[in-house]
Amino acid sequence: MPTGKRIVIALGGNAILQPRQAGAFDEQLANVQSTTDQIAELVAAGHTVVITHGNGPQVGAILIQQEAGRNQVPAMPLDACGAQSQGLIGYMLQQCLGRSLKRKGIHRPVATIVTQAVVDPADPAFQNPTKPVGPFCPEDWARQRMATTDERWIEDAGRGWRRVVPSPDPKRIVEAPAIAQLVAAGAIVIANGGGGIPVIERDGDLVGVEAVIDKDLGAERVAHDVGAQVLMILTDVPRVALNYRTPNQRDLDRVTLNELVAYQEEGHFRAGSMGPKVEACRRFLENGGEEAIIASLHQALEAISGSAGTHITT
Ligand code: ADP
Ligand code: MG
Repeated sequence: MPTGKRIVIALGGNAILQPRQAGAFDEQLANVQSTTDQIAELVAAGHTVVITHGNGPQVGAILIQQEAGRNQVPAMPLDACGAQSQGLIGYMLQQCLGRSLKRKGIHRPVATIVTQAVVDPADPAFQNPTKPVGPFCPEDWARQRMATTDERWIEDAGRGWRRVVPSPDPKRIVEAPAIAQLVAAGAIVIANGGGGIPVIERDGDLVGVEAVIDKDLGAERVAHDVGAQVLMILTDVPRVALNYRTPNQRDLDRVTLNELVAYQEEGHFRAGSMGPKVEACRRFLENGGEEAIIASLHQALEAISGSAGTHITT
């Protein structure tokens, strides 16, 4: 049967929550349903898919709940909040993908794996926390947190104070063997949400750390570890562009790895948005992957058949 490819799909924030939506559960579920309708098309076309996703707004909301409830129940650390968000988003994806598949007469198990990603405690990111997480707070709250905990807070462009955490590189997906076994058994797996829960190895054990991993760089590790042929990053733009948002903008259709690296070095891809996607594609191909695709969430099927998105090969 499987004439298709093994594809790791990385879903961007817009797959779960649209800009300007408040984030009510039903709102998120409706977005996820249209996302999984697309993914079901790929499954129907014979492809094997593993799904990963971002979690920024969801973990942000969970952190607000921790702050608000701090006087009634203990606040959970960031790694535990990441695990909560993987469960929440995995639940929505399981329910919606199950429905999308059933409508097409496809009966396949769908399962979410709570996923840990190993990071290096010597990663330079730990010396320089840059990633804002959680709610905006008043200055006196931020100063009190800094005085009583290890947390770092910064003033964020006049909008208030916000906690910043390191964003280290993911090295290894702890649950990769379990994911690969489920995939081999025919399951559609959702894994490594939010880039994975960052853990370090200490005396042979895994210990959660207060950090966040970029979801695109995490997706590359999953794709590598499950032996995917294709890494497909779905986002809110149809293609990667040169001179983005300038009169000279040029959308890329097909590029080689060498061309992409040259454009990357010329600074075309913004840190925190397109930058990590391009870096993830670069690493995937350098580590032996066949093809990396960056495309619109609404064009997954066209992208895999080659008529949409930016396609990168060696
Ligand atoms: P996601 O949630 O899918 O990861 P991001 O906001 O992180 O979404 O990244 C997608 C955004 O990257 C686009 O909305 C676009 O504004 C931005 N972007 C930055 N540089 C480029 C570029 N060179 N080409 C296309 N999009 C770019
Ligand atoms: Mg992003």
